[in-house]
Amino acid sequence: MLITTMAGPFPVKNATVPYWRTQLHHLDSHRSTPELPEKQDIVIIGAGFAGAALAHYLLKDSPESEPKPSITILEAREACSGATGRNGGHIRPDLFVALAARMQAQGLETANQVALFEAANAEAVVALVRDEGIDCDLRAVTTGDVFVDAAEAAKIKKLWDAMTKLNCPTLRSVTYHGPSDAERVSGIAGAKVAFTYPAHVVWPYKLVMHLLEGAVGKGVNLQTKTTVHGVSETVDGEGYWTLATARGATRAKRVVFATNAYTAGLLPEYDDAIYAARGTVCRVVPDAPATNIPLGSAGLEMESPNSIDSYYGLRQDGSIIVGGGKSAFVDDKEEWYRNYDDSTLIESTAPYFDCWAARTFTGWKGFETETESIWTGIMGYSADSAPHTGHVPFKPGQYICAGFDGHGMPNVLLCAKGLAEIIKDGRPFSETGVPAVYETSAARLRKISELVAAPTIGRAQADIYLKF
Ligand SMILES: Cc1cc2nc3c(=O)[nH]c(=O)nc-3n(C[C@H](O)[C@H](O)[C@H](O)COP(=O)(O)OP(=O)(O)OC[C@H]3O[C@@H](n4cnc5c(N)ncnc54)[C@H](O)[C@@H]3O)c2cc1C
Repeated sequence: MLITTMAGPFPVKNATVPYWRTQLHHLDSHRSTPELPEKQDIVIIGAGFAGAALAHYLLKDSPESEPKPSITILEAREACSGATGRNGGHIRPDLFVALAARMQAQGLETANQVALFEAANAEAVVALVRDEGIDCDLRAVTTGDVFVDAAEAAKIKKLWDAMTKLNCPTLRSVTYHGPSDAERVSGIAGAKVAFTYPAHVVWPYKLVMHLLEGAVGKGVNLQTKTTVHGVSETVDGEGYWTLATARGATRAKRVVFATNAYTAGLLPEYDDAIYAARGTVCRVVPDAPATNIPLGSAGLEMESPNSIDSYYGLRQDGSIIVGGGKSAFVDDKEEWYRNYDDSTLIESTAPYFDCWAARTFTGWKGFETETESIWTGIMGYSADSAPHTGHVPFKPGQYICAGFDGHGMPNVLLCAKGLAEIIKDGRPFSETGVPAVYETSAARLRKISELVAAPTIGRAQADIYLKF
């Protein structure tokens, strides 16, 4: 069977250590069997939130009396060592700001669909954690989108006024705070406008490891430290795809790419559509208990043009998980754009975070904070800002669940559930409840590649830092 061994990008070795990975689960470097199975029904590539959730739903509710599909998860590094294990720990369905941007780009109906889907995802995570009794520090918070930049604040207020006249169901959960109370309500120094709404913070690694433990308990073969270097161009005589790894080949009837930022490493046809954006997150520990921080989490828009400069989530131990620092590095494109190296830091972000809390919160001037740990992670940006879910075009038996655009926590779970229904039950995409704009297709890939190739638009435009 002909397999082209790909050049990558693949996950790198010696990744920085995120706070979330300081208490390792016993399955972190697990291999269910010493050798890879010779063949199985389904191989999932990637043991992040998407891969783990997919395994969970593929096996959920399957009657004991019926044979279960044989499933193997192949993970390049340790379990949950990619974006999920290194993110900001937010589950923030975007109920207004992204809704407004998406409405301008893709119309009201699509924008509403996506916002409602994100809200449903957040609820689904809460229900999953409750039903399974998952110990992952999930906490309900009031979150905020806080605008400090006056021009951005004026622009977003205009949009708010316009959109409150339209039929946007998710706006009912959002409260607007203007210049007279934005600073008080948000606790962010200089806030001009704030929108608050319900969200959650979570320890993402613990959530994913619980799902993996459940899957392994139901017979899933988990193989960590096993990078897939290529998949055969066609199926063999028995209908199996062959996957190449340094530990030998393995065959599967169905192959799922839950590879997020690294998808193009195995599926080059996704190179224009899904690409890396390196980000930074850190854990800041104040020298006194964090008081006067009214919001449990927030995204802060500090300067034009509109994009989140930093974001934070409070932990119950008084520490603050802070991410972003965009203004410190965005002009140095090599530091983040199509950068797959999470083994090194973006140097300019460390000083940015050192005095972040004193600079950001009202009444915090003079407070000492220690950046207790800092790490990088690789987001899978999507050129048209929507994940890719469904059948890989022209490769029957291959599926994708990737490209979560740095915003997977309120998207992954129900995408994985929908994809499990497609794989297990043969359900058409249109009946999964996943927004139509999330369906991957040849036409969508072609459209993105045409945009990238257009001289007046080109990759620079297609790949702009925050597309919405
Ligand atoms: C710094 C940072 C901050 C973020 N903050 C937030 C946030 O606060 N809220 C939010 O909603 N989202 C956030 N995100 C995005 C969120 O983490 C992702 O959208 C989500 O985790 C995607 O899950 P995933 O399973 O698709 O990807 P991943 O967790 O990256 O999993 C993909 C897995 O595939 C494996 N893999 C890839 N290629 C191969 C191969 N060839 N062979 C074998 N294995 C392979 C990788 O090692 C990895 O483990 C952030 C991301 C980063 C990096």
